[in-house]
Amino acid sequence: MLVVMSCDATEPQVERVCDVIRAMGFRPNAMPGANRTAIGITGNPGPVDPGPIEMLPGVAQCIRVTQPHKLVGREFRTESSSIRVGRAVFGPGHFPIIAGPCAVENEAMIMTVAHFLKEHGVPLMRAGAYKPRTSPYSFQGLGVEGLDILAKARAVTGVGIVTEVMDVESADRIEEVADMLQVGARNMQNFALLRRVGRARKPVLLKRGIAATVEEWLMAAEYILNEGNDQVVLCERGIRSFADQTRNTLDLSVVPVVQRLSHLPIIVDPSHGTGRRDYVPPMAAAALAAGANGLMVEIHPDPNHALSDGAQSMTLGGFDELLAKLRQLATACGLKSDSLS
Ligand code: PEP
Ligand code: MN
Repeated sequence: MLVVMSCDATEPQVERVCDVIRAMGFRPNAMPGANRTAIGITGNPGPVDPGPIEMLPGVAQCIRVTQPHKLVGREFRTESSSIRVGRAVFGPGHFPIIAGPCAVENEAMIMTVAHFLKEHGVPLMRAGAYKPRTSPYSFQGLGVEGLDILAKARAVTGVGIVTEVMDVESADRIEEVADMLQVGARNMQNFALLRRVGRARKPVLLKRGIAATVEEWLMAAEYILNEGNDQVVLCERGIRSFADQTRNTLDLSVVPVVQRLSHLPIIVDPSHGTGRRDYVPPMAAAALAAGANGLMVEIHPDPNHALSDGAQSMTLGGFDELLAKLRQLATACGLKSDSLS
């Protein structure tokens, strides 16, 4: 249920409503808005009786919430959220790009990419130190050594770091290094991990599970917000379908769907979505045109010798061309020319 306070409700009146909600055994989530405060109720296994709340001073209305996802839903919070990561903003009017190799392979390549991104005004670098691989015999990432390399790249260039957290055990160290914690597709329903990043003090990038419905995805985000971290950005990275001409089926139609249901920003990853570097530019442009709130792209100084995801990684030169095209398109889509930074 959502309790909407009247425009002239006082602080003590809001507090009183919160106390009554707590006394009923539920959790109040006060959300001050531009004109009025709304209080969302969570922790209730079934419908809440509005009786004891409706009569309290300052309460304008009690609205039943129909969606299973509450904290991430537009019923609780109508305004779109803007999430700041370093100098990038994920939210309306912005289209920041996260680019970088699939994995941290060595210091030299990470420094090359970080300097390149800095020079090209790209605010965030992605690279996995811990890699979720289908085969246990594939390169698993450099682990702690990879994190140290990322920390150095950040210190030297100022480019923000987005890197994947695969388990609860390694989360502490990753949280120290990263500006944004990535939860990968395979871990979208790792509930222990979702709770852990929900207690983190860093924004979270939550990728869509390989075969996740929108509702399952939003409920996964709900776990994170329910632990207190509302800095969540969703990432569409393609889903498994019968179509086999691309690595996954990039579900661009999910962008307006998620934006209707949730106030959280949604970005698109056309690299994992298509699996081929020549398919990335058209789908990146389509994501921008579809109104996505940002992009994640894999790039590599020498993709043909990459230790993972080389086929879908763009060369630095190719990415440079894509950036120029996206900047033009951004203006045509009504965004400011600096909206990609
Ligand atoms: C990645 O970003 O490198 C990755 C493993 O992505 P996903 O979880 O979407 O497969
Ligand atoms: Mn990858």
